[in-house]
Amino acid sequence: MNSLIRILGYLRPHRGLVLTTLTFATLTTVFDLLPPWLIKVIIDDVIQAQRTDLLPWVLGGLVLAYGLKNTLNSLRIRFNNILEQRVIFHLRQQVFHALQRLSINFYENRSTGEIMSRVMSDTEHVERIFVDGLEGVLTASLTLVGITILLFALNWKLALLALIPIPILIVSAVTFSKKVHGYYHEIRKKSADLSAYLQDALSGIRETMGFNRHEYERARFDEKSRAVNASTLSAMLLWSVYSPGMIFVGTLGTVLVLWVSPSQVASGQLSIGELFMFVSYLALFYVPVNQIHSVNHMLQHALAASERIFDILDTAPEIVDRPGISAPEKRLEGTVTLKDVEFSYRPDVPVLHKVSLHIPSGQRVALVGPSGAGKSTLIKLAMRFYDVETGSLSLGGVDVRDLPLVFVRDQIGLVQQEPFLFNGTVRDNIAYGNSDVSQSEIEGVAMAARAHEFVAELPEKYDTWIGERGVKLSVGQKQRVAIARVLLKDPPIVIFDEATSNIDTETEVKIREALEVLTQGRTTIVIAHRLSTLQQVDRILVLNRGELVEDGRHTSLLEKEGLYRTLYEAQFTV
Ligand code: ATP
Repeated sequence: MNSLIRILGYLRPHRGLVLTTLTFATLTTVFDLLPPWLIKVIIDDVIQAQRTDLLPWVLGGLVLAYGLKNTLNSLRIRFNNILEQRVIFHLRQQVFHALQRLSINFYENRSTGEIMSRVMSDTEHVERIFVDGLEGVLTASLTLVGITILLFALNWKLALLALIPIPILIVSAVTFSKKVHGYYHEIRKKSADLSAYLQDALSGIRETMGFNRHEYERARFDEKSRAVNASTLSAMLLWSVYSPGMIFVGTLGTVLVLWVSPSQVASGQLSIGELFMFVSYLALFYVPVNQIHSVNHMLQHALAASERIFDILDTAPEIVDRPGISAPEKRLEGTVTLKDVEFSYRPDVPVLHKVSLHIPSGQRVALVGPSGAGKSTLIKLAMRFYDVETGSLSLGGVDVRDLPLVFVRDQIGLVQQEPFLFNGTVRDNIAYGNSDVSQSEIEGVAMAARAHEFVAELPEKYDTWIGERGVKLSVGQKQRVAIARVLLKDPPIVIFDEATSNIDTETEVKIREALEVLTQGRTTIVIAHRLSTLQQVDRILVLNRGELVEDGRHTSLLEKEGLYRTLYEAQFTV
């Protein structure tokens, strides 16, 4: 019920359109009720009273009633469609905005396919409420009220008999709604599982091909797909019993009327025309009743979907600005300072333990350590993707929690191991949303990032479409595009996560040259996976199991016979 009220709240900004739609719906209903009365006039006043001169007038009225009804209905559909599309646009927009606000933690604990199914598929189901739900219930209710009044006005005794099945219908509807709502929750969940699987399988298609696991993936797809079928079928089976059952109960009202009415006709209390009109209205009475049942069925599915959407809208981002903070007026110095930083993703599994370090502005630092030591985690804390548990992390001497989030992220340029490139052109990816950038600026940073050379050889140069996640580029090329992107951002601090995949020597030289330009005058943290090039950095920080165990220059660390030397020797001794 709460979800329904919340969904209805989305209509508030469109009051004018709601009112217009409802007006046309009411008028359509009124004109829908005229024909049975006109038919009664034909039977009683034209045929039985032998007034054929009246026939053209009554038939004219009938055509006019049908014509007006359908014209008004067409307008109703038109306005309703505009209303529904506006509401759904707003809802989808809200979900996407909420997703953009959420912290990394939300994404690291959910699959992309599952989230996508909430934005697309769940909103489509909610859309049904507005397409034919609300308005369907409303026109059906209006018709019901109108017909009930007419039935009682015509013959209250017959009307009472006709309505005997109604309490049974109400109790059944409540029971059905409760049961089917649970089924629809299950359907939405299974459908999201299938979507998550699909996203995963399509992203991993190269692995599937490489390992010849097509059979295995087909079986996994079938299993998820079958689960969607099974849960959908449960709801459908319930409906297959409920819907015809309700229609049957409804017809009992007509049977009761036909049982009693012959004696009323015989005693002259009721004319044949009136009986015809009564039965016609009674038949019309059960049309909206069945319509309400169908809408209720659809509504339960839509409400289950809406609860999944509200789940996203109600999730508060973990990382937010403290109230009242503002960005410093001057550009911050590029110092990075950690004081006794502790961090864990899960309780009781510490990832960083009492890490303290200070990187002066402009220094080039390499972060090394075995896999899982906590290097990437440290970077996530600097970008404020997560907050430290205890201790502090400062940029330019200011705790990142005392700076606006946008400001913190403006200070850092991150080049990931395999940078994410969007499905667009090379230019789009370098500019990334900055429409003020000129072509010469793009080319300037691309040249500095040693990317211009290979871009110039692409079929459409900077306008070449580089495919989803930049699949049409090599890892080395992607890194150079990402370096160009960061050069354009021009941050005081740069973080470069070295590619672990094999890059040929020529490409590596180009990346080094690009990096040389990128790091000029900026504080630089390189997460180094290959230790061959660390002679050039000012300082090496060695992390092990979340602790900073060594700190110094390449030569002094080699002399120390500590972890750095072990890692170095492991890499260079065959
Ligand atoms: P690598 O060199 O292999 O990239 P790393 O030094 O960068 O490793 P991190 O990625 O920082 O290591 O991971 C440190 C530890 O935290 C690992 O044990 C990892 O399994 C764990 N970890 C990383 N991300 C998460 C997460 N989102 N949720 C839970 N645990 C995580």
